[in-house]
Amino acid sequence: MKIVVRAELVTDWGETTIIEVARFDRPVQLPDPESIGLSLADGKQLLSGLQQVVIPAQADEYCEIRRVCSHCQRQTQLKDYRRLTIDTVFGTVSVRSPRLMSCPCEPPFYLEVLFSPLSQIIPERAVPNLLLLQSRLAAQMPYRQVVVMMKEFLPGTEKLNHVTVRNRTLRVGARIDAIELAPGEALSPDTEWSIAVDGGFVRGREKVRPASFEILTGRLAASGVKPRVFACVRSEVPSIADKFAALLQTCAGTRSPKVCVITDGGNSVQSIHRQLPFPVTPILDWFPLSMRIRNLEQISQGMQAWSETETHTKNLLHREMTKLRWCFWHARFEKAKDKIRQALVLCRIIVAETPAFEESMRHLDYRLRDLWAYIEGDKTSLVTYAKRQKANKPISTAMAESAVNQIINARMCKRQQMRWTTRGAHLLAQVRCAVINDDLPAKLAAYYKKKSELPEHISRFLELLRRGAAQEPQPF
Ligand SMILES: [Zn+2]
Repeated sequence: MKIVVRAELVTDWGETTIIEVARFDRPVQLPDPESIGLSLADGKQLLSGLQQVVIPAQADEYCEIRRVCSHCQRQTQLKDYRRLTIDTVFGTVSVRSPRLMSCPCEPPFYLEVLFSPLSQIIPERAVPNLLLLQSRLAAQMPYRQVVVMMKEFLPGTEKLNHVTVRNRTLRVGARIDAIELAPGEALSPDTEWSIAVDGGFVRGREKVRPASFEILTGRLAASGVKPRVFACVRSEVPSIADKFAALLQTCAGTRSPKVCVITDGGNSVQSIHRQLPFPVTPILDWFPLSMRIRNLEQISQGMQAWSETETHTKNLLHREMTKLRWCFWHARFEKAKDKIRQALVLCRIIVAETPAFEESMRHLDYRLRDLWAYIEGDKTSLVTYAKRQKANKPISTAMAESAVNQIINARMCKRQQMRWTTRGAHLLAQVRCAVINDDLPAKLAAYYKKKSELPEHISRFLELLRRGAAQEPQPF
């Protein structure tokens, strides 16, 4: 049998054209399993053929309408035709693009100027859904792999290369960089937001030191809302604090949201929360604190006591150390400090009878002072972890660490040999975050909407022109 696919194109004013799009031969006498149904190649040919038919027809129809002035209904002058190449998901299409003379009574020119209606619609020569598809794929796999993938499934991709994919992806990244979207759910202003920030390193392309640079990543969460990830490279944003503030204010929908910042003490991220334009509650990450206490418990448990005094000291120290965790968990800091003080005194007044026991005591002494310094440095960030956990609120930056894995490691570090420029990494991270947050199409739509809005002074000027054109010419 023969399969002939024809497209029937009906214009808005009822003109019908039928064009053959593709033709497939399926001889009946050859029972070949390959010839059952359409193959991938047939599918590609069909889609590309359809696109080649649809776009010129659409262009002609639109230009026909566009030639008539929407205000005075006069047909404007057709100057000439140019060729316009448009990249689409189903191949590159070359169309005849007319150049028209605009009517002086019509926006946006209010003048007689030569313009191309098609270039106005597709200024980039690539349709937005192609940009979206390529950047969405590039957020998840290396640029070269995107090319391989697209060549596998889509028609008209023979000339596609990784540089085009990279440039388009970074362009999308630049567009959505400054756009923050509010979550769909309506939230009460009392909603408490938790933000945890952590950094991940990627290899830099520049030969200057340091060879790698940090991408700050984080996760923003509140109960009842899908957590959102975000990322940025410090040198690529004017102010990190401003960026975080904008993100928090948009998500919470208020100028001064209720925010808890979870930090892990020694992190470079720590000072950011002090620069935010609204008060935030800093919280010291429970995990490193808990690890320090665990270490103390292990040391006291592993002490090798020979004499009765040593055994007694060991039991005493071990008992105090196991109580420490409870004290911190329930925010009994004075009690915890008392315990640390007592243990420190014990370590210093007890004379060990064996070198091993003395070594353990010295070790414990050192670790106790370390813990003391750690909590003294972050006195204000200690909270009642028990209460927070009961309320199902985060107590650890583990959620930021998982964001690092999600955003950076999966695409930019692990097994990837690629080196990055700070700009490239920053913009790709924006796309990747938008893909993970599932708001890339919405962010791009917000960008196009913003772009189509004219600046206020220009729209005012155009309004004046419109009014001028509407008035009858005054006799002198
Ligand atoms: Zn007109």
